[in-house]
Amino acid sequence: MPGEDRAMHELSVCRSIADVVTRHAAGRPVTRVHVRVGQLRQIVPETLAYCWELMNAGPPENAGPPENAGPPENGADPPGGQVLAGSVLAGSVLAGSVLEVESVPVSVCCRVCGTRGELADRALRCGTCGAAGVTIVTGEEFLVTSFEVASDPVVPDPAAPGSAAPDTVEA
Ligand SMILES: [Zn+2]
Repeated sequence: MPGEDRAMHELSVCRSIADVVTRHAAGRPVTRVHVRVGQLRQIVPETLAYCWELMNAGPPENAGPPENAGPPENGADPPGGQVLAGSVLAGSVLAGSVLEVESVPVSVCCRVCGTRGELADRALRCGTCGAAGVTIVTGEEFLVTSFEVASDPVVPDPAAPGSAAPDTVEA
């Protein structure tokens, strides 16, 4: 089943992203992760974001009945995919974060006539002169471009406005 393989692929991609971001977050809670994925990568952005949500799913005791959020695909749900994915991120700095996937179209540069443009179909061939000798310029990238961390937690100010003697210092 190619569909199942692909879902598993995106799941492992999500894990890679989580690894990278967790390392760079240095313990700060992450709210949003931006990734850039070239269309030559066998990655469906929607599926990637969906896998991230699955990995973000809360612990089973909190799981309500699943809403029919996803469109009914013709293929069946990968059995086990959700079990594998569940709550991988729960309790980590990535808990509750949102994955934003930017899809980068494939563009090529012709080695014969020098035309640079987006690739219309899967054939790696120049749209101007038809030469097969093209260099891929974009479409192969897969990188975490940035992520957002929650702002510093708000510490309640002990010296509330109007209270007396804010300059008292305990020795
Ligand atoms: Zn050309």
